[in-house]
Amino acid sequence: MTRRALTLLCVVAFALCWPFLPEFTVTVFSYIGLYALVAVGLVMLTGIGGMTSFGQAAFVALGAYATAWLCTSPMAAGALGGVVAPALVPWLGLLLGLVLTYVVAWALGAITLKLSGHYLPLCTIAWGLSLYYLFGNLDFLGGQTGMPGLPALTIGGWSLAQPRALGPLIWAVLLLAMWALHNLLDSREGRAIRALKSGRVMAESMGVDTARYRVKVFVLAALLAAVSGWLYAHMQRFVNPTPFNINIGIEYLFMAVVGGSGYLWGAVLGATLITLLKEQLQDILPKLLGASGNFEVIVFGLLMLFVLQRFAEGLWPTLARVSARFLKPDPLPKGHAVSALAARSLPPAGELLLEADRVTKRFGGLVANDAVAMTLKAGEVHALIGPNGAGKSTFFNMISGVDDPSEGEVRLLGEAMTGKPSRDFAARGLGRTFQHVRLLGNRSVLENVALGAHRRGHVGWIRSMLRLDRAEEAALLAEARRQIERCGLGAHADAPAASLALGQQRVVEIARALAGQPAALLLDEPAAGLRHLEKQALAELLSQLRAEGLGILVVEHDMEFVMNLADRITVLEFGAVIAEGTPAEVQVDPRVLDAYLGGSEEPMAEAA
Ligand code: ADP
Ligand code: MG
Repeated sequence: MTRRALTLLCVVAFALCWPFLPEFTVTVFSYIGLYALVAVGLVMLTGIGGMTSFGQAAFVALGAYATAWLCTSPMAAGALGGVVAPALVPWLGLLLGLVLTYVVAWALGAITLKLSGHYLPLCTIAWGLSLYYLFGNLDFLGGQTGMPGLPALTIGGWSLAQPRALGPLIWAVLLLAMWALHNLLDSREGRAIRALKSGRVMAESMGVDTARYRVKVFVLAALLAAVSGWLYAHMQRFVNPTPFNINIGIEYLFMAVVGGSGYLWGAVLGATLITLLKEQLQDILPKLLGASGNFEVIVFGLLMLFVLQRFAEGLWPTLARVSARFLKPDPLPKGHAVSALAARSLPPAGELLLEADRVTKRFGGLVANDAVAMTLKAGEVHALIGPNGAGKSTFFNMISGVDDPSEGEVRLLGEAMTGKPSRDFAARGLGRTFQHVRLLGNRSVLENVALGAHRRGHVGWIRSMLRLDRAEEAALLAEARRQIERCGLGAHADAPAASLALGQQRVVEIARALAGQPAALLLDEPAAGLRHLEKQALAELLSQLRAEGLGILVVEHDMEFVMNLADRITVLEFGAVIAEGTPAEVQVDPRVLDAYLGGSEEPMAEAA
C-alpha cells in the first residue's frame, strides 16, 4: 500500500465510523480538527518558515469575534436586516473575519517580522496578550462575559448545530487546507518559503523578496487560525475571551512542536495527542493530587522536554520512518507538459558586466575594502586572490548587494546598484555561491538547485495551491536537473544536499547559480574541499561557461587552479588592490610576492 492510499483509507474509514461514534468522541475529534487547523498554520510559520509565534490564539479570536459580532450585535442586524438572509449571515461573518485578520496580520507582520532572534517570539507574546485583553475590554464585544446566542451554521438548509454535523465540515476544511499547503510546499513558491528559514542572505540572492514572503506566510497562518475561530464560534454558539488567552497560544505551539513542526501531518498528530492527553489529564490529575487546577500544563512542559530530547523534530518524522517499512512510496507524478522558461540573452563577449568603482567598506575602524576598483567582462574568468582577511568575501558582498559599500559605487550591466537589495542584482543577471555553503541540507540537491531558478518562474501562491503550476514546475525541475548533470552531480540529484561531501556541496551551489541563467557568476572559493579530479572537472566546467559568454569572478586559494584558469587576476591585501594583470604578470609582481611569501623570490605557482 502507498502512503497516499493509506491516508485515503483512514479518511474513508473515519467517515464511515463517524455516525456511530459516541457523542463525546465526536466532540473531541471536532476540537482536534479545529486545533489542527491552527497548528498546521504554525507548521508553515514556525517549522518551515522559521518564525516562532506564541500569538496564534489572537487570530483565532479575531475569526470568532468577527462572526459573533456580525451575527448577534443589534448594529449589524440593523445594517444587514432584510438584505441578507439569516442563514447567510454566519458566512458573511467568515468573510469579515478573514478580511479583518488579513488586515491585522499584514500590519502586525510588516512591523514585527523584521525583528530577528528572540525578539520576534517575544513580540508575538506581546500582541497575543494585547489582543486578548482588548477583546475582554470592549463592551460591544461583550467584555469578559462574552457574546451568547450565535446561530448554528447551515448549508443549503441543513443545520450544522450538532458536532456530529459540524465535525465533517471542520475536517473537510482541515484536509482541504492540508492539500493546498502540501501543493504550495511542493512548488516554486514552497521552495522560496523553505529558504526563509536559512536566513535572508541566501534567499535574497536567489531573487526571493524575503520580507514579503515572511509576511505572506504569517498572513496565511493567521487566516487558517481565523477560519478555526469562525468554526469554533459556531460550534460553541458562544464567544468569550478565555479560550484565546496566551496559554492557548502556547498550547498551539506545543501541538506543532510535539507533532513535528516541519511537517503538515505533524500538526494533526500533535493536535490529536495534546487534545486527548489534556482530556485524560484533566480527569486524572485532580483526583490523583486531590486538588483542582491546571496541572496538565506541568505535564505538557515535561512532555515537551522529553519529546525534544528524544525526537528533536517531533514525533511525525519517526512515525513516518517506521511506517515507511510497510508502505510503498507514492507513485511519481505523471509527466507534464513542460512550458518554456524565460531565457536571458547573454551580453556579447568583452562587454562590461560588473564595475566596482572605488568600493570602500569600513567595519567600525577596520577598513575591509579600501577603494577597490575592478571590472568583470563577459567571456572572461577574473580571479580575486589575497591572503586570509584581505577583504575578498567582503568585496563579494559589496558587489552582490548583500551589504552596501560605505563609499564608492557598483554598476551591473551599466546600471548603478547602490542601495539595491541582492535580489535586484539577481534579477539583472548576477549569480553567486557562498564561501560558507548555504544549502537547505535536508532538501534534495534537485530542490536546492531549482531554487536558483526562482526568478524564471511566475506562478503565484494561489495557483500553486491549486496545482495549476505543473507545466512551469516541470520546466523548472528539468532546468535544475540539466544544470546538476552539467556540473557532474547527476547521480546525486535526489539525495539530500547535506549528504554530499562539502566540496560537492560547493558544486551544488554553482549549479544553483547557473539555474538562474546568470550573465555574471561570482564564486567564493569553489575549489575548496574538492579532490584533484573534481578540481579538473570544475576548471573544465568554468572554461566551458566562459566560452559560452559568462563572466566569472572567482575567489580561490588554490594557485595552480587560479593560474591555469584565470584571464586576469586582481590581488588584494589589507583591503586594497596591490596588483592587477594576467597570471604571468601577477606571478612576478614584487608586491604580490612580498604579500604572499614575505619577500621570497620564488614564483607563486610553486609556492601553492
Ligand atoms: P577574506 O574573505 O579575504 O578572507 P573577509 O572579507 O572575510 O576576508 O574579511 C576582511 C576583514 O573584514 C577581516 O579582518 C574580517 O575580520 C573583517 N570583517 C568581515 N566581515 C565583518 C563584519 N561583518 N564586521 C566586522 N568585521 C568584518
Ligand atoms: Mg573569504
